Amino acid sequence: MRETPTRQRLIIDFEKCCGCFACAAACPEKRIAFSDQGTERRFSAPGVCSGECETCRKVCPVDAIVLEPFPLEDDECHPPALTWTLPLVRCRRCGEPFTTEKIRRMTMEKLTMLLEAPDAVSDWVPVCLACRRIEEAHRVRTATRTLPDPLR
Ligand code: SF4
Ligand code: SF4
Repeated sequence: MRETPTRQRLIIDFEKCCGCFACAAACPEKRIAFSDQGTERRFSAPGVCSGECETCRKVCPVDAIVLEPFPLEDDECHPPALTWTLPLVRCRRCGEPFTTEKIRRMTMEKLTMLLEAPDAVSDWVPVCLACRRIEEAHRVRTATRTLPDPLR
């Protein structure tokens, strides 16, 4: 007997999601979208996906995505599209919203475990990438000014 073809139903645990957008970045069909609007990161995803790749589920760092077979003929109870939001936190230097509180907390915890410099972790993690680059450039400029000229 021929098997009924299936699509996949996306189930996302919004409580687990940290807002990393790995699923949106990795989806080969661009079916998961996100955008930062003010102090919120907003996501949307289809309730049912015809892709068979499962890439979104595989890349999610917190196992927030489950894919369940969904029969093609089951259109009567078609699950609605999914939307969810996470609040963003502001950069400690410039005040711009830049990441989610969950990502900031997870990064702080991981780096504090891995590095033996908790002060460096708490200095850098709450700072956005743009401010980190400015600070790095300043450090390099300051350091190279005080170094002896290697050509003399
Ligand atoms: S199953 Fe594949 S195509 Fe469908 S949303 Fe996930 S990554 Fe995208
Ligand atoms: S990969 Fe997982 S944690 Fe990251 S945004 Fe997607 S569902 Fe959320």
